[in-house]
Amino acid sequence: MTDWTALIRDVPDYPKPGILFKDITPLLADHAGFTQVVDELADGLAFDKVVGIEARGFILAAPVAYRSGAGFVPVRKKGKLPADTLEASYELEYGSAAIEVHVDAFNPGERVLIVDDVLATGGTAAATVELVRRAGAEVVAVSFLMELSVLAGRDRLPGLDVRTLVSV
Ligand code: AMP
Repeated sequence: MTDWTALIRDVPDYPKPGILFKDITPLLADHAGFTQVVDELADGLAFDKVVGIEARGFILAAPVAYRSGAGFVPVRKKGKLPADTLEASYELEYGSAAIEVHVDAFNPGERVLIVDDVLATGGTAAATVELVRRAGAEVVAVSFLMELSVLAGRDRLPGLDVRTLVSV
């Protein structure tokens, strides 16, 4: 077992002053650490599809899907998916953002694991949960590498199985 948490690098004031950015690229570059977190993100869960949230969620969710025998579904920023989509908006610190999923991404009642790198305010994940449900599937869990607990993102995901491998 590697201590992969040491492979997440803190970058102060990125992308703007006051933000302490959690950079996962050193972890991704380390085979032992990367495979360990991919295993842990899905540990003990049963699901049909894995949703990755653009962009770093893609990098984690795709190998989770591959190792679990599940399909992969991207949730993307508005305007990036080519076919018919469902859209959800959420508030950012300044302004708002919108994400989309293909309307036919899931079969009715499919079990879905949502994966992303960092749980901050929870706005992105909450909008993703809304999209998955509106698309007719069931969210079995939401898994993150890291939770920034001071931002209380879990409070935006009530009643859900929210898993974070490490909380800071
Ligand atoms: P939020 O919607 O506030 O929970 O933000 C979550 C999204 O923003 C995730 O997709 C993260 O990748 C990214 N994010 C937010 N805060 C950070 C941070 N401090 N370091 C790295 N990524 C972050």
